[in-house]
This record gives sequence, C-alpha cells and structure tokens, in this order.
Amino acid sequence: MSISTDARELQPELVRLRHELHQEPETGLQLPRTQEKVLKALDGLPFEITLGKSTTSVTAVLRGNAPHASATKPTVLLRADMDGLPVQERTGVDFSSKIDGAMHACGHDLHTAMLAGAATLLAERRDQLAGDVVLMFQPGEEGWDGASHMIAEGVLDAAGRRADAAYGMHVFSGLEPHGRFCTKSGVMLSASDALTVTVLGAGGHGSAPHVAKDPVTAAAEMVTACRS
Ligand SMILES: [Zn+2]
Repeated sequence: MSISTDARELQPELVRLRHELHQEPETGLQLPRTQEKVLKALDGLPFEITLGKSTTSVTAVLRGNAPHASATKPTVLLRADMDGLPVQERTGVDFSSKIDGAMHACGHDLHTAMLAGAATLLAERRDQLAGDVVLMFQPGEEGWDGASHMIAEGVLDAAGRRADAAYGMHVFSGLEPHGRFCTKSGVMLSASDALTVTVLGAGGHGSAPHVAKDPVTAAAEMVTACRS
C-alpha cells in the first residue's frame, strides 16, 4: 500500500492520541504524562529509545535496513515539540483541556501525534530505508530552550553520527487553506531573542532643543530601521 493510504488508515488512532494529549497539556521542560503517551505510541516499534536526563524528552532511533545501505548511510532527524501553554482553554470542544490554566494552544499536541504517526509509517518501511531516522520529541519549546537541553544530551548524534538533515514543522491555522503544506529552502521558522542597545544622548534646556542630542528620537528611528 502507498504511504498516504497507510497514513489515512492511521488517522483515527492519531486523532485519538491528539485528543488525549490535548486534554492533558503540560508546560515547560517536565512533561511526564506527555512522555508516557509518546512511549505508549512507540511501544512495540523497533526504535532505540533514550529518555532525557534533565527533561522529559524522548529520542528514538530507527535503523534503516535497506540492502543497499552503505556504512556511511545518512541520518535524518525529525523533530516535534510537545509542550502546551499557560492558557485557560475556553474553546468548548469536547476534548478540551482538563488541566486548569494549561492548554495546547499552539498545536504541539498535533506535532507530537504527527511524529508518532511518522514513527509507525517509517517502522513499517524499515527494510526500504537506506539510512537511519532520529525522532526528537522535544519539551520546552515555549521559551524553555528545550532543544538545547536535548542537543547537550546528544540528540544530534543519537544514531552514532551527526544527523545530515533535520526537519521541524508547525501547524498554521487561519492564514492558509486547509490541507496546504508550505515550505521554502533554508530556514523558515522564527526564534525570539533579546538584545540590549544603549543610546547615549546629551541633555539640554527646553528653550534650546536644537543643541541637545535626543536619544529617544534616535532609538525610535533605530526600531523603524530594524524592521526593514
Ligand atoms: Zn508552537
């Protein structure tokens, strides 16, 4: 059967998993109930599983068994973030969050379920895989730097050598039609960061603003210029 037919067959199970994840959202780096659900979804599949030490991450390696695979076979990493947000859910859907003050409001429940689905589809095709696959189930995406914890614990080399490529994705509601998949070459998703700039001016008397150096005007100009 084709991979899309197999994926469609998995759909009810993945929807159920997504709803379970949605009902029990966890935030930050410690997501024990989410980790439990991921491990249950991977149970019985031929993955080498490593759990995070400083977080509840899950790393799962699938060894490709294609007959033509060489010793230098490539490694591809697929990543899904798993954490929810400190948001009160008021959507009214029948699988709403049961945790007060926490919600999967960014769609990471979908990402987690999708990667679990990919795990099943890839495992079924293990004998056709010319390389290894690393699944990276990451906690703490929402400002907790979860990826760096996993990198420090070796996720990029989980298959025994550095991953040749890594893919992440994010669901996107409201701006694109249902069913559309968007991508581009190079980097695509943003990251937030902080920088500190000190703008020094020179004070003056209100009667002679033209001889002062107003740092507020300069700072405002800088903000506008940074956007272009
Ligand atoms: Zn997100």
